[in-house]
Amino acid sequence: MAKPKYYAMVITSHADDAEFGVAGTVAKWTREGKKVVYVVCTNGNKGTDDPKMKPEKLAEIREKEQIAAAETVGVDEVVFLRHDDQSLEDTPEFRKEIVRQIRIYRPDVVASTDPYRRYIWHRDHRITGQVVLDAVFPYARDRLAYLDMLKEGLEPHKVEEILLWGAEEPNYFSDITDTYDLKIAALRCHHSQVGHFSKEWGDFLRQRYEGFAKGQSFKLAEAFYRAEIWW
Ligand SMILES: [Zn+2]
Repeated sequence: MAKPKYYAMVITSHADDAEFGVAGTVAKWTREGKKVVYVVCTNGNKGTDDPKMKPEKLAEIREKEQIAAAETVGVDEVVFLRHDDQSLEDTPEFRKEIVRQIRIYRPDVVASTDPYRRYIWHRDHRITGQVVLDAVFPYARDRLAYLDMLKEGLEPHKVEEILLWGAEEPNYFSDITDTYDLKIAALRCHHSQVGHFSKEWGDFLRQRYEGFAKGQSFKLAEAFYRAEIWW
Protein backbone atom coordinates (compact mmCIF):
# COMPACT_ATOMS: atom_id res chain seq x y z
CA MET A 1 0.00 0.00 0.00
CA ALA A 2 1.04 3.60 -0.58
CA LYS A 3 2.56 5.49 2.38
CA PRO A 4 2.04 9.11 3.45
CA LYS A 5 3.46 11.37 0.77
CA TYR A 6 7.20 12.02 0.71
CA TYR A 7 8.79 15.16 -0.74
CA ALA A 8 11.86 13.44 -2.17
CA MET A 9 13.24 10.00 -2.96
CA VAL A 10 16.99 9.50 -3.31
CA ILE A 11 17.79 6.35 -5.31
CA THR A 12 21.39 5.13 -5.12
CA SER A 13 23.42 2.16 -6.23
CA HIS A 14 25.43 1.93 -3.02
CA ALA A 15 25.54 2.94 0.60
CA ASP A 16 27.54 6.26 0.61
CA ASP A 17 26.44 7.50 -2.86
CA ALA A 18 23.78 9.77 -1.33
CA GLU A 19 26.33 11.29 1.03
CA PHE A 20 28.69 12.24 -1.80
CA GLY A 21 25.96 13.37 -4.17
CA VAL A 22 23.03 14.93 -2.39
CA ALA A 23 23.17 14.76 1.44
CA GLY A 24 23.72 18.52 1.90
CA THR A 25 20.58 19.23 -0.11
CA VAL A 26 18.70 16.48 1.75
CA ALA A 27 19.67 18.06 5.10
CA LYS A 28 18.24 21.36 3.84
CA TRP A 29 14.96 19.70 2.88
CA THR A 30 14.55 17.86 6.19
CA ARG A 31 15.29 21.11 8.09
CA GLU A 32 12.32 22.57 6.24
CA GLY A 33 10.21 19.65 7.50
CA LYS A 34 10.14 17.80 4.18
CA LYS A 35 10.11 14.00 4.29
CA VAL A 36 12.85 12.17 2.37
CA VAL A 37 13.31 8.45 1.72
CA TYR A 38 16.48 6.69 0.53
CA VAL A 39 16.34 3.63 -1.73
CA VAL A 40 19.68 1.79 -1.87
CA CYS A 41 19.76 -0.74 -4.72
CA THR A 42 22.78 -2.92 -3.86
CA ASN A 43 24.14 -4.28 -0.61
CA GLY A 44 27.62 -2.88 -1.36
CA ASN A 45 29.20 -6.27 -0.72
CA LYS A 46 32.22 -5.69 -2.99
CA GLY A 47 33.34 -2.30 -1.70
CA THR A 48 36.50 -3.17 0.21
CA ASP A 49 40.28 -3.65 -0.09
CA ASP A 50 40.42 -5.56 3.19
CA PRO A 51 41.59 -9.12 2.40
CA LYS A 52 39.93 -10.43 5.59
CA MET A 53 36.48 -8.96 4.87
CA LYS A 54 33.70 -11.33 3.78
CA PRO A 55 30.93 -10.09 1.42
CA GLU A 56 28.06 -10.95 3.83
CA LYS A 57 29.73 -9.17 6.74
CA LEU A 58 30.46 -6.12 4.58
CA ALA A 59 26.82 -5.93 3.42
CA GLU A 60 25.68 -5.97 7.04
CA ILE A 61 28.15 -3.24 8.05
CA ARG A 62 27.21 -1.04 5.12
CA GLU A 63 23.48 -1.13 5.89
CA LYS A 64 24.17 0.02 9.43
CA GLU A 65 26.48 2.78 8.16
CA GLN A 66 23.82 3.92 5.67
CA ILE A 67 21.11 4.08 8.32
CA ALA A 68 23.38 6.16 10.59
CA ALA A 69 24.31 8.47 7.69
CA ALA A 70 20.65 8.92 6.74
CA GLU A 71 19.69 9.76 10.33
CA THR A 72 22.47 12.36 10.45
CA VAL A 73 20.68 14.39 7.76
CA GLY A 74 17.16 13.77 9.11
CA VAL A 75 16.15 10.81 6.93
CA ASP A 76 14.37 8.08 8.90
CA GLU A 77 13.29 5.81 6.04
CA VAL A 78 15.83 3.74 4.10
CA VAL A 79 14.75 0.97 1.74
CA PHE A 80 17.38 -1.65 0.85
CA LEU A 81 16.78 -3.61 -2.37
CA ARG A 82 19.85 -5.79 -1.59
CA HIS A 83 21.08 -6.64 -5.07
CA ASP A 84 24.70 -7.75 -5.18
CA ASP A 85 27.18 -4.94 -5.66
CA GLN A 86 28.29 -4.57 -9.31
CA SER A 87 25.37 -6.68 -10.51
CA LEU A 88 22.77 -4.11 -11.58
CA GLU A 89 21.36 -4.48 -15.08
CA ASP A 90 18.67 -2.59 -16.96
CA THR A 91 15.99 -5.29 -16.75
CA PRO A 92 12.18 -5.14 -16.64
CA GLU A 93 12.37 -6.61 -13.11
CA PHE A 94 14.73 -3.94 -11.73
CA ARG A 95 12.69 -1.17 -13.40
CA LYS A 96 9.54 -2.53 -11.82
CA GLU A 97 11.19 -2.58 -8.38
CA ILE A 98 11.99 1.13 -8.73
CA VAL A 99 8.49 1.96 -10.00
CA ARG A 100 7.08 0.13 -6.99
CA GLN A 101 9.07 2.34 -4.59
CA ILE A 102 8.03 5.51 -6.44
CA ARG A 103 4.38 4.51 -6.28
CA ILE A 104 4.65 3.61 -2.57
CA TYR A 105 6.28 6.91 -1.46
CA ARG A 106 4.90 9.25 -4.17
CA PRO A 107 7.79 11.77 -4.16
CA ASP A 108 7.68 15.16 -5.92
CA VAL A 109 11.44 15.01 -6.47
CA VAL A 110 13.61 12.02 -7.38
CA ALA A 111 17.40 12.30 -7.08
CA SER A 112 19.87 9.77 -8.48
CA THR A 113 23.10 9.35 -10.44
CA ASP A 114 23.44 10.87 -13.92
CA PRO A 115 23.61 7.92 -16.35
CA TYR A 116 25.10 10.04 -19.13
CA ARG A 117 28.49 10.71 -17.56
CA ARG A 118 31.10 9.45 -20.01
CA TYR A 119 34.19 7.26 -19.63
CA ILE A 120 34.96 6.66 -15.95
CA TRP A 121 31.74 5.99 -14.09
CA HIS A 122 30.73 3.03 -11.96
CA ARG A 123 28.56 0.73 -14.04
CA ASP A 124 26.03 0.45 -11.20
CA HIS A 125 25.70 4.27 -11.19
CA ARG A 126 25.11 4.33 -14.95
CA ILE A 127 22.50 1.56 -14.81
CA THR A 128 20.76 2.97 -11.75
CA GLY A 129 20.39 6.42 -13.31
CA GLN A 130 19.10 4.99 -16.55
CA VAL A 131 16.55 2.72 -14.86
CA VAL A 132 15.41 5.51 -12.52
CA LEU A 133 14.76 7.86 -15.46
CA ASP A 134 12.67 5.22 -17.23
CA ALA A 135 10.84 4.31 -14.02
CA VAL A 136 9.92 7.96 -13.36
CA PHE A 137 8.73 8.48 -16.91
CA PRO A 138 6.71 6.81 -18.26
CA TYR A 139 6.38 3.65 -16.14
CA ALA A 140 5.45 5.14 -12.72
CA ARG A 141 3.11 7.59 -14.42
CA ASP A 142 1.15 5.30 -16.72
CA ARG A 143 -1.90 3.61 -15.27
CA LEU A 144 -1.77 0.54 -17.46
CA ALA A 145 1.98 -0.07 -17.12
CA TYR A 146 1.56 -2.53 -14.23
CA LEU A 147 -1.94 -3.85 -13.75
CA ASP A 148 -0.84 -5.95 -10.76
CA MET A 149 0.30 -2.82 -8.89
CA LEU A 150 -3.14 -1.25 -9.33
CA LYS A 151 -4.65 -4.29 -7.66
CA GLU A 152 -2.27 -3.76 -4.72
CA GLY A 153 -3.43 -0.15 -4.40
CA LEU A 154 -0.26 1.32 -5.95
CA GLU A 155 -1.71 4.03 -8.15
CA PRO A 156 0.30 5.77 -10.91
CA HIS A 157 2.39 8.69 -9.72
CA LYS A 158 3.80 11.77 -11.47
CA VAL A 159 7.24 12.85 -10.27
CA GLU A 160 7.69 16.60 -10.89
CA GLU A 161 11.43 17.03 -10.77
CA ILE A 162 14.58 14.98 -11.34
CA LEU A 163 18.00 15.82 -9.88
CA LEU A 164 21.02 13.91 -11.18
CA TRP A 165 24.41 14.18 -9.51
CA GLY A 166 27.68 13.31 -11.22
CA ALA A 167 26.52 15.31 -14.26
CA GLU A 168 29.22 16.49 -16.66
CA GLU A 169 27.19 19.59 -17.45
CA PRO A 170 25.24 20.48 -14.30
CA ASN A 171 22.55 23.14 -14.67
CA TYR A 172 21.50 23.46 -11.02
CA PHE A 173 23.60 24.32 -7.99
CA SER A 174 22.06 23.73 -4.59
CA ASP A 175 23.32 25.95 -1.73
CA ILE A 176 24.65 23.64 1.00
CA THR A 177 26.69 26.24 2.89
CA ASP A 178 24.62 25.77 6.07
CA THR A 179 24.39 21.97 5.85
CA TYR A 180 27.88 21.10 4.61
CA ASP A 181 29.03 20.00 8.09
CA LEU A 182 26.06 17.62 8.30
CA LYS A 183 26.89 16.22 4.86
CA ILE A 184 30.46 15.51 5.98
CA ALA A 185 29.24 14.03 9.29
CA ALA A 186 26.95 11.73 7.28
CA LEU A 187 29.81 10.77 4.96
CA ARG A 188 31.97 9.93 7.96
CA CYS A 189 29.35 7.40 9.12
CA HIS A 190 30.63 5.16 6.31
CA HIS A 191 33.68 3.97 8.27
CA SER A 192 34.18 0.95 5.99
CA GLN A 193 34.55 3.31 3.01
CA VAL A 194 36.09 6.50 4.37
CA GLY A 195 38.12 5.17 7.28
CA HIS A 196 41.03 7.11 5.79
CA PHE A 197 39.24 10.46 6.23
CA SER A 198 42.30 12.72 6.63
CA LYS A 199 42.62 16.48 6.84
CA GLU A 200 43.93 16.49 3.25
CA TRP A 201 40.93 14.56 2.02
CA GLY A 202 38.58 16.88 3.95
CA ASP A 203 40.27 19.85 2.24
CA PHE A 204 39.96 18.16 -1.15
CA LEU A 205 36.24 17.59 -0.64
CA ARG A 206 35.66 21.14 0.54
CA GLN A 207 37.41 22.48 -2.57
CA ARG A 208 35.21 20.29 -4.71
CA TYR A 209 31.98 21.67 -3.25
CA GLU A 210 33.39 25.22 -3.25
CA GLY A 211 34.09 24.67 -6.95
CA PHE A 212 30.45 23.82 -7.59
CA ALA A 213 29.48 27.18 -5.97
CA LYS A 214 31.84 29.21 -8.18
CA GLY A 215 30.05 32.24 -9.59
CA GLN A 216 27.11 31.78 -7.19
CA SER A 217 26.18 33.99 -4.24
CA PHE A 218 26.92 31.16 -1.76
CA LYS A 219 30.07 29.31 -0.73
CA LEU A 220 29.33 25.59 -1.03
CA ALA A 221 27.09 23.73 -3.44
CA GLU A 222 26.05 20.34 -4.70
CA ALA A 223 25.74 20.21 -8.49
CA PHE A 224 23.00 18.50 -10.47
CA TYR A 225 21.47 18.16 -13.86
CA ARG A 226 17.89 19.19 -13.08
CA ALA A 227 14.90 18.39 -15.24
CA GLU A 228 11.28 19.32 -14.60
CA ILE A 229 8.62 16.94 -15.80
CA TRP A 230 5.57 18.91 -16.81
CA TRP A 231 3.68 16.54 -19.07
ZN1 LIG B 1 28.41 4.09 -5.70
